[in-house]
This record gives sequence, C-alpha cells and structure tokens, in this order.
Amino acid sequence: MKTLKDILGNHGSHWVGDGFPVRSLFSYNGDTRAISPFLLFDYAGPHNFEPNDGAPRGVGQHPHRGFETVTIVYDGEVSHRDSTGGGGTISSGDVQWMTAGKGIIHEEFHSTGFSKTGGPFRMVQLWVNLPAKDKGAPPAYQAITRDMIPTVTLDGGTARVIAGTLDGAEGPASTFTPVNLWDVRLDAGSETTLPLPDGHNSMIAVLSGRVTIDGQGVEQAEIARLSTTGEGVTVTADGDSILLVLTGEPIDEPVVGYGPFVMNSEAEIRAAINDFNAGRFGSMAAV
Ligand code: MN
Repeated sequence: MKTLKDILGNHGSHWVGDGFPVRSLFSYNGDTRAISPFLLFDYAGPHNFEPNDGAPRGVGQHPHRGFETVTIVYDGEVSHRDSTGGGGTISSGDVQWMTAGKGIIHEEFHSTGFSKTGGPFRMVQLWVNLPAKDKGAPPAYQAITRDMIPTVTLDGGTARVIAGTLDGAEGPASTFTPVNLWDVRLDAGSETTLPLPDGHNSMIAVLSGRVTIDGQGVEQAEIARLSTTGEGVTVTADGDSILLVLTGEPIDEPVVGYGPFVMNSEAEIRAAINDFNAGRFGSMAAV
C-alpha cells in the first residue's frame, strides 16, 4: 500500500482575471520531482456568482507553452477560444484537455449563459507536463463531454474515469505519458481501496468533504500526496466527499517554469518569451 507523504494546500485565494477565485494547491515553484508529471493545481471556487448583464467574467488572451492544461468544470460553464481557431463551452461534468505544446494563445471566460444566470461555480485547472521530446507538439485540445466519461462503481461511491484506467474502464483522454485522472465521489462513512499504480506519483485532492488516509485527516482544498512506491491506498470518507485522484509516471527531466511557460532550461524560457513577443505564437481571430 502507498503511505501518506505530506498534505499540500494553500488557503490563500487569488483571482485569475475577474472570473476565477483560485487556490493554488501546488505549483511548479515547489519540489517538482515530488509532483511530476503534474505542474500546477488550481482549485477555483466554490463561489457563488451574481447574475451579470455585462461582459462575461474571466481572463483574456494569454499564452502557454510546453505542457497541457486540463480544465474540469463541476459547477458553472467556461467558454474558451484559441489561436488555432478552436473554441467551445465546457459545461458541468465536462473536461477540456488542451495541449499547449509549442505554443497557443487563448482566453477563458464564463459562458454568456452562466454570466446571465449566475449561480454556483467550481472548477479545477490542472497543468500536466510534457516530456522534452513533446514540448514542440502542435497545439490541440480534446473536448471531453460528460457522456464520454465512463463511471465505475466503488465500495461506497463512484468514480468517473477521465484519463487512464480503473476497474476495466478506460478514460477518453489521450495523454503523452501514463496518467490517471479520476473524479471520485464517496458517501459518508464508506471505506474504499483505490488501485493506484506502483511507481506513479499519486495525489488525492479533497474538493469537498473530508477523508482519512493513512491515519491522517485531509480537509477540503487539501491534497494528500502519497508515496510513489506501493500499490493502492485506502480512503475513509468522514463525510460525503468529492475527490480528484491524480497519478502519473514521473518525467525525470529538469523543470524550469516562468508564468505560462514550462520548459527544461532558462534558455528555452527566454526563447518562449522572445517568440511570444515576436508574434510567433500566432494570434486569435477577432470576435
Ligand atoms: Mn490559460
């Protein structure tokens, strides 16, 4: 079995644009070996937005290079557009898996519909690193809708398999390195053993509720980081809980991050800044 290594969390909140009240539960500014292949975990909300008849709230055009962004919407709706001509709306239960690769410019806003109705908002944005050989991959995204995600029954709960495999179910997301990403719901009082792979860095984020892992309580907006070695972990739900389970094979390469760029060296970061300033990330079509 895996053991609990430490509990990650950040109870300070900051706004990304005017649409996303975010707690960064881990980022590439810490020990990147311990979290690889993951780079950053932003938990947006839960937050109740009032109806807005003006412009949707969010964050305008900005670049990314060298990794993937995974946006999981629990409550509310997020609309996006990017420099490849792509765009769409991520609704409750949907996931967008975007490969920034060699460079993309995009914008992320609440949908016009959600802006008008307002209501509860909850979202996770996870950044997943790319191995050096794939950092120049063409930008792309996978629009994974709720109906594409298989649900597995657990002891005392359910899991939606977004990426990887669980109990014979295969997640729809295509990944560059082995990754599991499961949206797990546990009923209060249940005890569930999750088959996390030996050799994967493994983390369990508590989005709501409270669980006990390896004898320690893990609260809302905290992440239990587990040992890389060992197979499986037992989770006891102290209340009805929503968990995001992430495991991945570590990428054993240097990580140098600067804002929206994550590369392997300072020189590559300087190149990313120069390329962006020179317009080599392309541009977004006018609305
Ligand atoms: Mn972005």
